[in-house]
Amino acid sequence: MHELSVMAYMLERVEGHAERLGATKVIAINLVVGERSSFVDDSLLFYFEMLTPGTRAEGALLNLRRTLMRCHCPPCDTDFHPTGADFRCPRCDTVGQVTDDGTELLIESLEVVT
Ligand SMILES: [Zn+2]
Repeated sequence: MHELSVMAYMLERVEGHAERLGATKVIAINLVVGERSSFVDDSLLFYFEMLTPGTRAEGALLNLRRTLMRCHCPPCDTDFHPTGADFRCPRCDTVGQVTDDGTELLIESLEVVT
């Protein structure tokens, strides 16, 4: 049910944006979903289909773009993508600092008809 509440919130934001843009219809919604977020693509799409009828977003295309978790290693100034629970720098083995935890869910952009 996690995805349901998130999708309901997301669609409220989409409606708000569409309203401000004076849009009659939303054609596509581009979402950014972090690779470490618990959201399942299929569930997001399922709830999207369930919640959009009768709204401006009915029939819109939902695009999901996965972003990767990023770490930074200060000693050798390297940015890297940690695998699993291993946050060590691939170059010098120092445990890196998390710069992007890969758990976001953001509306990147909307395509609308005005
Ligand atoms: Zn390093």
